[in-house]
Amino acid sequence: MDYDIAIIGAGVAGSQLGTLLSERLKGKRIVIFEQLEKPIEFARAMKRPVEDMIKYERVLSVKLRSDCCLVTTEQDKYFVRLLAGCDGANSLTRRAMVEKGITKQPKLLHGAFTQGKETRKIKVYLNKFYSPDFFAWNFFGECGLATAHRPRAHLDYFLKRQDVKPKRIFASPIPLGLLKSFTDRCLLIGDAAAQVKPLTGGGIIYSLKAATYAANTIEKSFSLGRFDAATLKAYEKAWRDDFGSEIKNGLRLRAIYRKMTNKQINELFELFKDDVEKVFAKEAVKRYDYLSAAASGIPKKKITKFMLKNLNLLA
Ligand SMILES: Cc1cc2nc3c(=O)[nH]c(=O)nc-3n(C[C@H](O)[C@H](O)[C@H](O)COP(=O)(O)OP(=O)(O)OC[C@H]3O[C@@H](n4cnc5c(N)ncnc54)[C@H](O)[C@@H]3O)c2cc1C
Repeated sequence: MDYDIAIIGAGVAGSQLGTLLSERLKGKRIVIFEQLEKPIEFARAMKRPVEDMIKYERVLSVKLRSDCCLVTTEQDKYFVRLLAGCDGANSLTRRAMVEKGITKQPKLLHGAFTQGKETRKIKVYLNKFYSPDFFAWNFFGECGLATAHRPRAHLDYFLKRQDVKPKRIFASPIPLGLLKSFTDRCLLIGDAAAQVKPLTGGGIIYSLKAATYAANTIEKSFSLGRFDAATLKAYEKAWRDDFGSEIKNGLRLRAIYRKMTNKQINELFELFKDDVEKVFAKEAVKRYDYLSAAASGIPKKKITKFMLKNLNLLA
């Protein structure tokens, strides 16, 4: 065996997992494969503690077997005891699990953004002309949106309305779904497992939490000397117990939001405007924008009134 543990991806999830495992499993051979030598600023900060574990090799394929996993990179082939797929929204580890019928592909939204004129404001636009199924934003001058449909055309329209002439456009997928994240000798963590808030696209907190649950399960698995699905299942139970229902409820609300018109969105905000401050004062919402905590702050009578008036949204 070349490595005890191979992590694919040194983003948020992979760096957090690598840091925890290097502290807890001293003496084990752990490697992180990363394709980018120059990661974005945030990822660079995350990667610092695990820099010496990283091999800058792009992974081309993984083979999942019951006795080991085989990782093929542009440079070499490696046999590993346990594999952690932290390889983001287009995860090839997940693809290997899909091919074996273990999990499914998530739905992908396309995020697209550019730098506009710097401002001191944060603005979020729930406007179906900008994004029919998500939202557009202007965060201190960074203008962007996400959508599953014609992202470039929607971005062009949004930028025109913001009076921004883009020099360079960045694009990145956002995975959505509730996926199975384990099998024999393999776990999916972070965007690879679609551990993303369906209403905001935020995945950093979930990636960090899931990586911590994965580290707990992997530590236990090495102490037992067992790497089968029955042992690794504890990882999925831990993250689903924590934020699985947040993802599930978020997906349900997204399905409703996709059907809403701009008129209905305005109606909704008009109805709830007095409750918004109360909802955002809640500690759980402020810290992690936990949906269930937010929902519990909105009077049920108002929700029922709105839904009865807009029954088409439930169809
Ligand atoms: C436009 C946009 C804005 C966002 N804003 C926010 C925000 O404000 N707040 C928030 O919480 N979340 C935000 N997110 C989501 C957040 O960035 C992700 O959820 C988070 O980065 C997921 O971390 P990860 O480690 O799973 O994946 P990633 O950060 O994508 O890391 C995956 C790593 O794997 C590497 N990799 C992939 N394939 C291979 C391969 N074959 N071989 C070797 N290496 C490979 C990649 O190079 C990358 O370094 C945003 C996402 C987008 C698209």
